[in-house]
Amino acid sequence: MGARAGVFKKGIVILGSTGSIGVSSLDVLDRHPERFEVVGLTGWGNVDTLKAQILRHRPKIVAVADEEKAAQLRSDAELKGTDVVWGTEGLLEVATVNGADMVVSAIVGSAGLVPTFAAIQAGRDIALANKETLVAAGQIVMDEVRRRGVRLLPVDSEHSAIFQSLAGHNSKDVKRLILTASGGPFRGKSKAQLSSVRVQDALNHPTWSMGSKITIDSATLMNKGLEVIEARWLFDMPGDRIDVVVHPQSIVHSMVEYIDSSVVSQMGVPDMKGAIAYALSYPDRIETGLPFLDLASVSTLTFESPDREAFPSLGLCYRAIEMGGAAPAVLSAANEVAVNAFLDEKIGFCSMATVMEAVLDNYSATEPSSIADVLKADLWGRHAARKEMESLTEKVEYK
Ligand code: NDP
Ligand code: MG
Repeated sequence: MGARAGVFKKGIVILGSTGSIGVSSLDVLDRHPERFEVVGLTGWGNVDTLKAQILRHRPKIVAVADEEKAAQLRSDAELKGTDVVWGTEGLLEVATVNGADMVVSAIVGSAGLVPTFAAIQAGRDIALANKETLVAAGQIVMDEVRRRGVRLLPVDSEHSAIFQSLAGHNSKDVKRLILTASGGPFRGKSKAQLSSVRVQDALNHPTWSMGSKITIDSATLMNKGLEVIEARWLFDMPGDRIDVVVHPQSIVHSMVEYIDSSVVSQMGVPDMKGAIAYALSYPDRIETGLPFLDLASVSTLTFESPDREAFPSLGLCYRAIEMGGAAPAVLSAANEVAVNAFLDEKIGFCSMATVMEAVLDNYSATEPSSIADVLKADLWGRHAARKEMESLTEKVEYK
């Protein structure tokens, strides 16, 4: 707990500070130095950005990927006063460092699970961007959140919107949750058209600026499927009461429908700083520097059903919820492998879902009883996805 000059400041750790969410989080924190104190940061490969962040925020401790990068920062005279640790152990040290009240979980992929879980066990409140944590280990994580009595506040904009739309209502009156999806850069394309889309087109998201993995997930609608699973755990709602509607303007961030047919939604400009700020300052609201929403200039808000045939990844996520156990962990791990292969131009766009479907077909779901079990399922999913990719007949024809 930061207490400088007798004034309470919320101590903040950011896991994944050098990424898109990490940088936006620091931007919000920077606007409110009277409220927050940055206690710890973790980067991974990007040492230059981390160095600039250390100079600006002077955290107690930071972590990087390996010993060599740690040595580089340790030998830098400008960075004196900040401990530098590395690797998975280093992530755990920063996630549980003394003096932090809240940990922003913004590492990408299932690598975020273990440090986020450690932060929960250490009693830290969590601002959760890393959806893979709940996708892979929803039951175990939520049990631990309850046991430790910590707050798990959503940063994902849809979940933040639902959280805000639930406030002041009884959960027994909720009929369903409705997640909005931008539809990504390929909305309206047929399966045949999608088979030849290129990496740079998939990385060109129409409304949100994000890291590369989630940008590809948005183009396949896998991101929305992962969010359905995330919502299933965060709001304790069965999959068949969570719907998705495509809303290309990304102004309505998501909605809750109640039994009296009322729908409550939260709106705002499409920028993650809104949801980040709400998680950081909850239950207060703080200024973000974002423009205010001018609905007259937006003029039209449209909604349509997702095309589940052209974008089968969404359905695979519902199927993984149905299968239960570690099926979502396996699916999410297979997706990470497939997304990396697509980014490396080793498989085509539609093959990502083909690979994941085959992995799910071969998986018999078992209930994980520990994080170690989840990590085993994650590994299984990665191996299975690599095997499926080897047997793909489709060759990528970009050139
Ligand atoms: P980025 O790719 O921009 O950033 C990822 C961060 O994780 C970087 O700090 C990176 O370090 C670090 N990192 C990468 N690999 C590892 C690893 N193996 N171990 C530890 N740290 C690692 O991702 P985003 O910020 O876009 O997304 C972060 C999370 O937030 C994801 O789970 C995503 O789904 C979620 N999210 C993101 C949104 C967005 O708008 N970006 C919206 C909603 C949710 P370095 O760069 O130094 O290598
Ligand atoms: Mg989202």
